[in-house]
Amino acid sequence: MKGVNIGILAVQGDVAENVSATRMAMDELGIEGIVSEVKSPDQIADLDGLVIPGGESTVIGTLSLVNGSLKKIKEKIASGMPVLGTCAGMILLSKKAKDKVVGEMEQPLLDYLDIRIERNAFGRQKDSFEAEISLEKIGIPAFRGVFIRAPSVLEAGKNVEVLSKIDEKIVAVKQGNIIGTSFHPELTEDLSLHKYFLTLVQKKG
Ligand code: GLN
Repeated sequence: MKGVNIGILAVQGDVAENVSATRMAMDELGIEGIVSEVKSPDQIADLDGLVIPGGESTVIGTLSLVNGSLKKIKEKIASGMPVLGTCAGMILLSKKAKDKVVGEMEQPLLDYLDIRIERNAFGRQKDSFEAEISLEKIGIPAFRGVFIRAPSVLEAGKNVEVLSKIDEKIVAVKQGNIIGTSFHPELTEDLSLHKYFLTLVQKKG
């Protein structure tokens, strides 16, 4: 089997941390392949899996819309490509997002995850925190969640699997091959979520 081709969307946000977490997860699982930063529709077209990092969802969305990447990611999702979206990445994957303080605002979204998101649901930068959560449904009983200006999921459609909650707020979801988390798995030493994402990529291949 040829190696897998994993891209980290490199528009803005914690790109480098995701490159290294994905690379380490691949090495530990003994999966052959490459992990690279991707930006253009052409680079995205060749991928077997994509990670959309945390950062600022309005910036990542707007720049990806302008250069045509958003459309290409939508096509790839429709063809079954697994995607891991963390924090701003989950916001981008959603169908609907509003900000806790600012309210409704037009922002480009991938319109896939059947969820309604509240951005900055836990407050602003100063309210960032870490918490022990469980992702039992995907075989990860304990995980340290790093929440930075984190969103939460207010509502999830029937086809969405809720993977984790914190104080009744949904913080991790899965729909088909797409995973979204409110927290930043790339900012911990624990590679289990990146590993799980890679197993989805392998199954698809
Ligand atoms: N609050 C940011 C947004 O709405 C997301 C924060 C993050 O990715 N750490 O885009």
